[in-house]
Amino acid sequence: MKNTPKTLALLGEDAARFIAKDKKMFIDGAWCPAAGGSVIEVEDPATGQMFDRVPRGLAADVDLAVAAARAAFDEGPWGQMSPAERGKLVWKLGDLVEAHADELAQLEALDNGKPVTDARIGDVAFSYELLRYMAGWSTKITGQTIPLSAEAPFHAYTLREAVGVCGQIVPWNFSFMMAVWKVAPALAAGCTIVLKPAEQTPLTALRFAELVEEAGFPKGVFNVVTGYGHEAGAALAAHPDVDKIAFTGSTEVGRKILDAAQGNLKKVSLELGGKSPMIVFPDADPDVAIPAIGYGIFYNMGQTCTAGTRLYIHKDIAPVILEGLKTFAENMTVGVGLDPATQIGPLVSKEQFDKVLGYIEAGLADGATLLCGGTQVGEEGYFIAPTILTETKPHMSVVCEEIFGPVLSVATFDDDGFEEIVKEANASVYGLAGSVFTRDISRAHQVARKLKAGTIGINTHHVIDPALPFGGFKQSGWGREQGYEAILLYTEVKSVGVAL
Ligand code: NAP
Ligand code: MG
Repeated sequence: MKNTPKTLALLGEDAARFIAKDKKMFIDGAWCPAAGGSVIEVEDPATGQMFDRVPRGLAADVDLAVAAARAAFDEGPWGQMSPAERGKLVWKLGDLVEAHADELAQLEALDNGKPVTDARIGDVAFSYELLRYMAGWSTKITGQTIPLSAEAPFHAYTLREAVGVCGQIVPWNFSFMMAVWKVAPALAAGCTIVLKPAEQTPLTALRFAELVEEAGFPKGVFNVVTGYGHEAGAALAAHPDVDKIAFTGSTEVGRKILDAAQGNLKKVSLELGGKSPMIVFPDADPDVAIPAIGYGIFYNMGQTCTAGTRLYIHKDIAPVILEGLKTFAENMTVGVGLDPATQIGPLVSKEQFDKVLGYIEAGLADGATLLCGGTQVGEEGYFIAPTILTETKPHMSVVCEEIFGPVLSVATFDDDGFEEIVKEANASVYGLAGSVFTRDISRAHQVARKLKAGTIGINTHHVIDPALPFGGFKQSGWGREQGYEAILLYTEVKSVGVAL
């Protein structure tokens, strides 16, 4: 029997109907239980109650899904489809996601805990726009003609071909959107897919599979195996018949993916952790900087790989910025994700909740000062108040390690140049994002060039768009998602030479 936490009452009809269904995996165009017959319980992080269960896929299920994806790639109608036909299907999938956007946002809010309003205008809207953006690339993936320097005349050209069967492993923080970030370019390029969502948030991937089926993709093109990372995930990463593995998650698991990929040297792209700096110069506009920094850290409860977690403020502007940030943080509406007014929902799990409270404790023990937050909100679920720690020092764990929670560490600087503070901002093993707040256009662009990170904001923090490459320097990853760069991740170049 499924439990029914009280938050389920907040679901719309469509989402409630989906929750009531028995969950199966989507393999080779059919719905099936896990070969081993066991399940994983699905938890509502606002209450800590279990309300659903999904199949616990094992290596045998991954084998079936990979075989289906292989057959669909090598023999199915998918490979014979024209780029335009493929693009139309991907576009149709985008339309279906938009048509079910409220339902998908509610499922994500229930499963992950995130604010439903953010899920609707962020995660889900971005996903259908990305599907349409990538649908457009289907007909624009081309090679080049290349002049050769050989003595005899040649005609030489390149073909850009789909890489093949792709394993895609995604985390729980933006589970639906991370899946679409990977699926959309892979489909546009003509690949086939086995997707493994995170154990904590498997629901939207299964609902998405229903929409893939409804859109009319040939069987085996898209498959979903739910399960644990060390079981289904590890089997997928190591599978000898997978041509490419795409992963988003922790840097630690990213290394395991690399190890597993060694067997057949499959292509690997990785989108890993971050510890992104935000730098505020004395000429910054506080009315611009305060909300940008507030959302920079607290959006999605700080469970965002690009979260601006380290704030460096010039001492001359520190009092006004800190006062503004404290007010911003204390006025955020904390509540269950399914309430449209909520701005801060619960963290995804007890594990994440304990980890984040542990970091706050460690920061205070290391000598940081608590400006606001720092504690659980309410008595049930995994809610933590937006937290700001000031007077942090470079060696503290809250400054060096990825917390993945609503915790901002703040330090001030007094140098009038920017070399020193940029050096401190760059003193991290990560390099995913960074931002700079100033009205000096020259300094803004110079700092943007010096920061060692994949995405830089000037007078803003989170900058994402379907057309804008996204990914990390250093230990934040390999490769870029979004834009044409994402198409490159899912294609191989073949050179053809003709002796004339
Ligand atoms: P994680 O373990 O890296 O999970 C990401 C995905 O990888 C999940 O689908 C996970 O499956 C799977 N996985 C785990 N072990 C695997 C293995 N050996 N082989 C193949 N796949 C495997 O992240 P997490 O444990 O959920 O979170 C831990 C920390 O990672 C967070 O506190 C945060 O610091 C960081 N994180 C970063 C991002 C990001 O976007 N950069 C996202 C999430 C988390 P299961 O979940 O089913 O185990
Ligand atoms: Mg995990």
